[in-house]
Amino acid sequence: MRKWLSVPILLLLMLFLSACGVIDTSGSEKGYIGISMPTKSSERWVNDGENMKKQFEKLGYKTDLQYAEDVVENQTAQIENMITKGVDVLVVAPIDGQAALTTVLERAHKQGIKIIAYDRLIQYSDYIDYYATFDNFQVGVLQGQYIEQKLGLKDGKGPFNIEIFAGSPDDNNAYFFFDGAMSILQPYIDSGRLVVKSGQTKFNQGATLRWDGAVAQARMDNLLSAYYTEDRLDAVLSPYDGISIGVISSLKGIGYGSAGKPMPVITGQDAELASIKSIIHGQQTQTIFKDTRQLAEKAVDMATAVLNGEKADVNDTKTYDNGAKIVPSFLLNPVSVDQTNYDSVLVGSGYYTAEQLGQKEEVAQ
Ligand code: BGC
Repeated sequence: MRKWLSVPILLLLMLFLSACGVIDTSGSEKGYIGISMPTKSSERWVNDGENMKKQFEKLGYKTDLQYAEDVVENQTAQIENMITKGVDVLVVAPIDGQAALTTVLERAHKQGIKIIAYDRLIQYSDYIDYYATFDNFQVGVLQGQYIEQKLGLKDGKGPFNIEIFAGSPDDNNAYFFFDGAMSILQPYIDSGRLVVKSGQTKFNQGATLRWDGAVAQARMDNLLSAYYTEDRLDAVLSPYDGISIGVISSLKGIGYGSAGKPMPVITGQDAELASIKSIIHGQQTQTIFKDTRQLAEKAVDMATAVLNGEKADVNDTKTYDNGAKIVPSFLLNPVSVDQTNYDSVLVGSGYYTAEQLGQKEEVAQ
């Protein structure tokens, strides 16, 4: 090495190159985490991504956070790119959890990359190390029980009319939500206390590709004009807030929610801001809160464990068979939220501020 390239000069050179981004010194020696999220169009995934990024970076990891806007090919390309950039761990919430990612994840595995399925299971891959999620069956149970309790079905009230919506058929969670809810509702349908006038009680009949609120709104429009011109609709099983908002638009279109024609009982999921406001204003009735801060924390723990060659903390080693293996999972607890508890659960835990929910204006009015 030439004399003039002394240690201080070398240090200065490194500093310069790292400032230009030519060499990377930002936490990469601790680990580089690729975070692949499905879409920014739903607030929950924005929160998930940001929470993870924040928590990983706080621990000194470098992150690459990408959103695929619900286009499967985008997600595959983004993951390919993360592999090329040399990530050590992939945390993936799949858009299509069926077999769309099998090939790209095999490539990741061959590069020694660890893989964590985030919230949604990734099917047909041997290489999923862990799965961090909520108790998805219980989400459906809480929705079903809410309808049961609100309508007074246990007290023998009814019959009531209900219509049933399900989530995206390429998302494993959607089946768990549906089965959980139907474990409560089906007996009432069988006994005639709940009547589904459309007769559409099967998952595929109520499924909503990519959880698209506009698709649900169009289906609700059809159901209302075909079956509810005379009769009242008393309840809607909706698996997700975006679907609930679509359903509510449709119902409003024919006068529900105005004097003398109250909204049906409408469930939801994710405690998205628009839905909490809707609940406060007496339109949507309930949602399921899944604390994305806790889920992010689980994913961070799992990534840290795999990087250190340790076993991650799991509480379920039976439920999530992805067709290739049973994926060791951690299931967090979902919480039912309505007008009676949104304040303590959401504002109390710091998930939202009172200002975000518009409570301040409300009090002032
Ligand atoms: C998630 C839900 C979410 C839905 C739509 C599911 O996989 O578990 O929380 O409502 O996707 O984004």
